[in-house]
Amino acid sequence: MPLSLTVLGTASPYPRPGRPCSGYLLRGAGAEVWVDAGPGTFAELQRHTDPDRLTAIWISHLHADHSADLLAAAYAFAFGGLLPPAPIPVYAPMDCALRLAGFFGRADIRFLNGAFDFRPLYDGHTVRHWNLRLTTRAVAHDTEAYALRVECQGTVFVYSGDTGPCDALTELASGADLFLCEADLDRHGKGEPAHMTPEDAGEAARKAGVRDLFVTHVGPSLTREEATARAAAAFGGPARTAREGETIPL
Ligand SMILES: [Zn+2]
Repeated sequence: MPLSLTVLGTASPYPRPGRPCSGYLLRGAGAEVWVDAGPGTFAELQRHTDPDRLTAIWISHLHADHSADLLAAAYAFAFGGLLPPAPIPVYAPMDCALRLAGFFGRADIRFLNGAFDFRPLYDGHTVRHWNLRLTTRAVAHDTEAYALRVECQGTVFVYSGDTGPCDALTELASGADLFLCEADLDRHGKGEPAHMTPEDAGEAARKAGVRDLFVTHVGPSLTREEATARAAAAFGGPARTAREGETIPL
C-alpha cells in the first residue's frame, strides 16, 4: 500500500465539535502509525482502523493537545479488551511513560507493558519501521519537541509538530512530497517563537523545496482559510488546509 496520511484532528489549543486536537494516521507498506495523540483523535482513529492494528505511535511533544489521548488508548488497551497482539512501540519524549503512569496514580507504567513499548526520542533519532524510515529532529518549542520525516520507497512525508522557525525543520523537510506544517500564530509576540505564523510555514516550505504544503494546527487568532492563503503566498506554491476526515495519498 502506498503512503497515505489521514487527518484525525488539527485544532489548537483545545478540541472543538468535529475537530479534535493534533493527530494523524500515517499508513503505508504495512505500517499504521498514529502520529500525535491530541484529545479526540483516539475516537476518530477508530473510524479508519482498529487500534490493535497500530504498528507504532509517534508523539511530537508532551503538551496535552498532542498527547492526552494516549490515556484514552491506555484505557482501551488495559480495560477495554483491545490489547494489541504485541506491545506497540511508542516513540515519544523521555517522560511520556511517567506522565501516563501519573494519571493512574502509579509510580511506573509496568502494568501497561503488554500494550505500549516506550522508546525515548532524541535529536537525530532514526529507526526503520516496517518499510518506513522515521527520522526525528529536535525543533524550537517551549518544551522538548520534535518534527518527523518519514521516507518510504522514495516518497517523503514531513510533519513539523509544534515549533518556531528553525533550521532543523527546513533541513528535515528538504524535498518532501508532503509537508504538514503548523501555522498556529497570526503574528509573533515577545520572546523566542514557539510556533509558526502562516508566513513562517510558507517560507519553510519554500526553503525546503517541498512539493505540497498542508497547513495545520491553526490557532484561534486565525481562520484556517486565511492561514492557508497567507502560507501559499509565502511558499509561492500549492498550499492546502489539513481537514479532519481527509485521507491524503502521497
Ligand atoms: Zn500544539
